[in-house]
Amino acid sequence: MDNLIAVVTGANKGIGKEIARQLAGAGLTVYVGSRDAARGGRAVEEIGGDTRPLVLDVTDAPSIADAARQVGALDILVNNAGISGDGKTPEREDTDTFRRVYETNVFGVAAVTNAFLPALRQSAHPRIVNISSGTGSLTLATGPQFPHRGSFAAYRSSKAALNALTVFYAHSLADNGIKVNALAPGLRRTDLNAAAAASEGDPAEAAAGAVRLALLPDDGPSGEFFSWDGTTVPW
Ligand code: NAP
Repeated sequence: MDNLIAVVTGANKGIGKEIARQLAGAGLTVYVGSRDAARGGRAVEEIGGDTRPLVLDVTDAPSIADAARQVGALDILVNNAGISGDGKTPEREDTDTFRRVYETNVFGVAAVTNAFLPALRQSAHPRIVNISSGTGSLTLATGPQFPHRGSFAAYRSSKAALNALTVFYAHSLADNGIKVNALAPGLRRTDLNAAAAASEGDPAEAAAGAVRLALLPDDGPSGEFFSWDGTTVPW
């Protein structure tokens, strides 16, 4: 694993920072993506190991192109950056919030993935991990026990779209040996929103699930949706 190179988007804090920390701890070279250079620099200093700052705003095309040029060779892309919107049900949500959330959580993932694909195609063990959410599962949402019932419509529908993209990328990149999987990290104590901030879930535990998918063996799965503990989540 010493020669593997990873990029983690939105890695200056939260789950992304823990993913970067664990990948660096496993001996990888890790580019710590951050849309703010100072915040990214502080994260790199704190994590240590072979981490490198990478200014990357996933909603900004020139920033994405610059980042892809700076990184060059790449084995692992973790699309972690995400925002939660304001939690409203769909009929109360304004279109701008849908657009803002989709820009980061959906279009940003496609733009970053496509920009780094030429490098990933050159890797012997290419992996893409999309940090999704169990709340984006339509199977769970239509089940009898689901607690959210329409809330966080922009966020949850963006994660359902991200799940779809995960399947479509996995199918279209299968011939290149690129494995693409989605992770449901579980509720974690981060700045994502009030529920996350109030939770007791350890972000490092979720990060371990992402690292498992980032370091999948060559006979591992692709186009699947996993919980942080390695169990399968229904689409
Ligand atoms: P967080 O602490 O708020 O971290 C989000 C990260 O994304 C931050 O580094 C943030 O950067 C970055 N980001 C936001 N917009 C960006 C952009 N346009 N370009 C680049 N980076 C951007 O939240 P988190 O909980 O760690 O979230 C990480 C991922 O886990 C997200 O995809 C989220 O949907 C998912 N998730 C989290 C939970 C949970 O309970 N925490 C549950 C399910 C799924 P700034 O510091 O610059 O804002």
